[in-house]
Amino acid sequence: MAERLQKVMAEAGIASRRKSEVLITSGHVRVNGKAVTTLGVKVDPTDHVEVDGVPLLAEKPVYYLFYKPRGVVTTVHDEKGRKTVMDFFKDVPERIYPVGRLDYDTSGLLIMTNDGALANRLTHPKYEVKKTYLAKVEGVPTNADLKQLRLGVEIDGRKTAPAKSNLLDSDQKKNNALVQLTIHEGHNHQVKHMLAAVGHPVTKLKRERYGILDLQSLQPGEYRKLKPIEISKLK
Ligand code: URA
Repeated sequence: MAERLQKVMAEAGIASRRKSEVLITSGHVRVNGKAVTTLGVKVDPTDHVEVDGVPLLAEKPVYYLFYKPRGVVTTVHDEKGRKTVMDFFKDVPERIYPVGRLDYDTSGLLIMTNDGALANRLTHPKYEVKKTYLAKVEGVPTNADLKQLRLGVEIDGRKTAPAKSNLLDSDQKKNNALVQLTIHEGHNHQVKHMLAAVGHPVTKLKRERYGILDLQSLQPGEYRKLKPIEISKLK
């Protein structure tokens, strides 16, 4: 997540924000090899910042698996003042941010890290990270609906890639069902759109798995550090 250059410098222990501003305007700072002398420039964790030719020490990379509750936005700041995923990580000093996004009303597995390279890789469609969702839907999907989800459905003029779909439970009386869907794409509201496209709007959505990771015994709002073996498998 981009932050103001002087803030990044201050957090790296270079000088106070005010003094960092002076260092910038007096020409001591370079970002990705280019001198920056104006204030207001924002940098990402992947940007290379140097002060008088000395690189800022990169923060040590940290990786968390978070069980995002419903009713929380997946952003670092929310202009409407809603609870964000960052509110759960107040004790973590590193500048972490979420990898990808879950909707406000979706719960489930979210990775939080300050490793920009890994975050980019995991969210790039080329790498096809598999994500498994559990959706409560209106109505009971037929075998034909499930097959359609597997083959792909049309959303905004584009066909979704083949997905895995299973009916886990259904209640004819209440006219609802639980569907498990595994996709590797990550378009906005994709699962909701896919299920709506086969006539079964989603009423509740949870992400159960992300690549090799699952929630195990975590409860909503809890997080844990990823194990080195999990990190190396993600990379
Ligand atoms: N698909 C959705 O519709 N919502 C999410 O939050 C994630 C995937």
